[in-house]
Amino acid sequence: MTKAHAAPMTSAPVPASRGCTDTPILRQRGQHEVFCGLTSIIWLHRKMQDAFFLVVGSRTCAHLLQSAAGVMIFAEPRFATAILEEADLAGMNDSHDALDEVVAKLLARRPDIRQLFLVGSCPSEVIKLDLARAAERLTQHFAPNVRVLNYTGSGIETTFTQGEDCCLAAMVPVLPNTNPADLIVVGALPDVVEDQMMQLLANLGLDRVALLPGRNAGVDPHIGPNTRFILTQPFLGETHAALCRRGARHIAAPFPFGEAGTTAWLQALCRAFNISDNRFDEVTAAPRARARRALDAHRATLEGKSVFFLPDSQLEVPLARFLAAECGMTPIEVGTPYLHRDLVGPDLADLPGNPTLSEGQDVDLQLDRVRKARPDLTVCGLGLANPLEAEGLTTKWAIELVFTPVHFYEQAGDLAGLFSRPLRRKALLHLEAAE
Ligand code: SF4
Repeated sequence: MTKAHAAPMTSAPVPASRGCTDTPILRQRGQHEVFCGLTSIIWLHRKMQDAFFLVVGSRTCAHLLQSAAGVMIFAEPRFATAILEEADLAGMNDSHDALDEVVAKLLARRPDIRQLFLVGSCPSEVIKLDLARAAERLTQHFAPNVRVLNYTGSGIETTFTQGEDCCLAAMVPVLPNTNPADLIVVGALPDVVEDQMMQLLANLGLDRVALLPGRNAGVDPHIGPNTRFILTQPFLGETHAALCRRGARHIAAPFPFGEAGTTAWLQALCRAFNISDNRFDEVTAAPRARARRALDAHRATLEGKSVFFLPDSQLEVPLARFLAAECGMTPIEVGTPYLHRDLVGPDLADLPGNPTLSEGQDVDLQLDRVRKARPDLTVCGLGLANPLEAEGLTTKWAIELVFTPVHFYEQAGDLAGLFSRPLRRKALLHLEAAE
């Protein structure tokens, strides 16, 4: 897997404290306010350049995608919606025949498509349209040119980042077998961030690294019992489980946000592949220093301010760690749709302070807690941000954290900037009002 390094690995982790590892979790199962899993098609279709995402859904699903992606009318998009009409919903049509026809037309018109994802929605799930069976049938028909897979993006079952999780989990069972001790880095990153990461890994001596998802089907990873994998996104619980089922081993680490998070993530890789401390220091000294300087520019704004996370992107625990441990903020409540300890355990262990940890949502009760706490900054979904702003609270849209490049050293300053900007804007507005 790696080029050999003679020096012994001496950078054993130093568990200074258990942070919030043992903090009791407030579990809520009430009404929740999040986008559905279809939303992740917007970044996945840009990442997987020979893939097409065919949502089997309603006009509402089509509108969501169209308005969120903002695709120009003359572009050849890599997603579309096969609309279920009333007769389909009433069971009067054979939806499988209709779907086969749509897929045949699509693939005849777009020979560049190598992977076709049939994406389930609320309507397709309500009428129990069996997209797994459809994917199997269509794969047999269009193999070897096109691989057809299915997953759900339904708002009944998923939050918006789970769309990516379900998509990647659907890919895992069809990855080819292998034996070498390769590394798979899992999670869709913007190309520029992925290139920076691959350069860091190459400089460390990791030269058998594959990505899931790959930029096209031809470079998808192979997998076997000697494969190790590390996640770049904390919302990939199903993908983690699917990779473990294939025998791959997870390298647990804090997520690579900020200087300390990126350092801990890389150190976990170095321990797993026996890369020396010296090599690690040589490779990371300069970007670590740049990241620290970039964070310094935002610390004065963020330090001492309180932050409240409503459950939305599943990035909440790692981001709370970043804001508390690296920027000096005080998390009051860290709410997340699901709390996967296998995934965010290392971030929980590095999360200082004594925040409430909550999983799931009962939105009215949680809004009562926000109003009582009056945090300096509330991180929440789009639908809650405007009403909270109208009540005088400062907010940050959680979805921006998924659409903006925020991982690894070179993005540490931009990540802090996403949180410092609304606080600065608020301070300026107060100044103007006082004049
Ligand atoms: S999948 Fe469900 S929640 Fe998402 S746009 Fe379609 S109908 Fe709405």
